[in-house]
Amino acid sequence: MNNAETPKGFGLTIDFGAVAPAADPAVATTKVPTAPTETRLLILGSGPAGLTAAIYAARAALAPVVIGGYAPGGQLMLTSEVENFPGFPEGIDGPVLMANMRAQAERFGSIMVDQDVDRVDLSAQPYRVWSAGREFRAEAVIIATGASALWLGLESETRLRGRGVSACATCDGFFFKGQEVVVVGGGDTALEEALFLTRFATKVHLVHRRDNFRASKIMISRVQAHPSIELHMNREVIEVLGEKSTEAVMLRDTASGATSAPERLAAGGLFVAIGYKPNTAMLGGALPVDAAGYLQLESETTASQIDGVFIAGDVHDHRYRQAVTAAGDGCRAALDAERWLAERDATKS
Ligand code: NDP
Repeated sequence: MNNAETPKGFGLTIDFGAVAPAADPAVATTKVPTAPTETRLLILGSGPAGLTAAIYAARAALAPVVIGGYAPGGQLMLTSEVENFPGFPEGIDGPVLMANMRAQAERFGSIMVDQDVDRVDLSAQPYRVWSAGREFRAEAVIIATGASALWLGLESETRLRGRGVSACATCDGFFFKGQEVVVVGGGDTALEEALFLTRFATKVHLVHRRDNFRASKIMISRVQAHPSIELHMNREVIEVLGEKSTEAVMLRDTASGATSAPERLAAGGLFVAIGYKPNTAMLGGALPVDAAGYLQLESETTASQIDGVFIAGDVHDHRYRQAVTAAGDGCRAALDAERWLAERDATKS
């Protein structure tokens, strides 16, 4: 099975690998030619981090240009109801939340470009960013390109995404109250999600393809000791069953391979927790990344190693990965960029 890098259905990411224009009318497209190619601040990414940065920067009269991808809005565009974003006691549809953020950013003068970033040159001022054959120049750049969850790559998994198949227990666990669920993966994320899901599910089946976990020892002992978690080691999910919603998964024994008959495991939910890939390819190694490929911050601010380049959201944060934390990060990045630009103006004059 291949790991398919697509935006996860929940959380906060922009997919810079998309090739088709946005089809969702909830996020209006902006005519690209209207976007100036010279600007004080460029924001890369249009998930909660990028759009919150745009709201703050626009209100500071910086008229930021947001290069947000062919599928703007990030991962919340692929989810239905978001119940944990503050301010919406009844919950809000992910695409509606993102359309609202975008409208709020545009209201104050942000300019949206619904195209992917192809490459950047951050080696000298002005910083340059290429997108769909055009070159954008800016004094400051905020990188908020998110991270994509890895999926198993099954057709049935894609078909049932948002209908029982999820990659975010924090976002969707609540919907599985009283049901049995399956979690796939053997790292800290999978074990953490399995433990979290025991709050709602009657039973959590943890499926891992090998006979030992990659996760930390403390997480392994917690999972092993938990009465509601059943381990399925040396197993992989080969199909998700269900027409309108998830009803079961088919497991294959990875130790015996194709010789054993697949097993059916009844479950109302499948949580895929096999890792994330931060969207940094377009940076071409311009900024340092950690062992897992996430961008690294220089200090307690959002500053990167490059003066005038700031980082926000999941592209550096593999710990929290929430829409609200990304939005907070976008705010911080915009404030940092605004101060940096003001200091630059002061030294020039
Ligand atoms: P990891 O890369 O650590 O683990 C991914 C897991 O998914 C592995 O067990 C891997 O199996 C499995 N996997 C990968 N591809 C497939 C596939 N196609 N089919 C089935 N299984 C697959 O990712 P995590 O997201 O778990 O963790 C990323 C980093 O974040 C780690 O450093 C982790 O420690 C950290 N983290 C820390 C937390 C904390 O401190 N609270 C919480 C969550 C994450 P295999 O082992 O066989 O390769």
